[in-house]
Amino acid sequence: MEVIKTIKELRERLKRESLVACVPTMGNIHDGHLSLVRIARGHAPVTVTTIFVNRLQFGQGEDFEKYPRTFEDDCAKLEAAGNTILFAPDERQIYPESQVFYVDLPKIANKLEGRFRPGHFRGMATVVLKLFNSVQPQIAVFGKKDYQQLAIVRHMVEQFALPITIIPAETVRAEDGLALSSRNRFLSHAERKEAIRLRQAILQVKDAVEGGDRNFIAMEYAAGELLARHDWKVDYVVVRTRRSMLRPDVQDKELVVLGAAKLGTTRLIDNQEILAP
Ligand code: AMP
Repeated sequence: MEVIKTIKELRERLKRESLVACVPTMGNIHDGHLSLVRIARGHAPVTVTTIFVNRLQFGQGEDFEKYPRTFEDDCAKLEAAGNTILFAPDERQIYPESQVFYVDLPKIANKLEGRFRPGHFRGMATVVLKLFNSVQPQIAVFGKKDYQQLAIVRHMVEQFALPITIIPAETVRAEDGLALSSRNRFLSHAERKEAIRLRQAILQVKDAVEGGDRNFIAMEYAAGELLARHDWKVDYVVVRTRRSMLRPDVQDKELVVLGAAKLGTTRLIDNQEILAP
């Protein structure tokens, strides 16, 4: 695997490539990221995985400083997964001066994750646009684990007419169903056992909807209560439409349950697509 640290070298290296698939990450590579790399490999002969912990998308009091940085390990895993190029710029490469131009986002970016992490999606979209401009891929793979992020990236690509196809990837889970995440390592042993309840709460809503229930508010409340009873601090468990991520209307069938809650000091998110009858 080639490791490239500057935009200039990356452009030079990719000049002769006509089909490139990109997998943007913040590192601390786990099997979720590797599944994205495998999907990318299935779509293009050259895959560029990027590792950049993007300060702009962390809010005050969030975990930018303590975000796990495991570069050597990451390289070994990406190489074993057959990734072609690792683009790992440092902060001066991506932000040689303080970033004053940002992507301006639609209102949906202030809801759900955006409500609890103000500015998060603005920082994310800005760096994704910059990574897209650096790599200039034809394809990019994003995980459904970060469902709202995927929706925003897709919409951005569409509205700015970027010549990139976005491929969504299913969430990879641990044996008990917990979605793999770099933040899972912050869970204590007891919290790790409890962590699966977020998924259980989400699946409880899924079962109700698939059983024909459309009283979403009641289901959302019950799911939140289930978590709160077990000492979670719940940000939201909600049912939304998959495309617009708005509250579903009577005719909407393609839905998604999204949840975010804190266990101790660790904030976890998860979601599940559902098809209403
Ligand atoms: P991150 O490094 O957390 O910013 O994630 C980089 C990419 O990996 C994003 O597109 C995520 O949605 C995706 N991702 C993270 N966790 C998982 C997972 N458990 N399964 C599939 N994709 C994931």
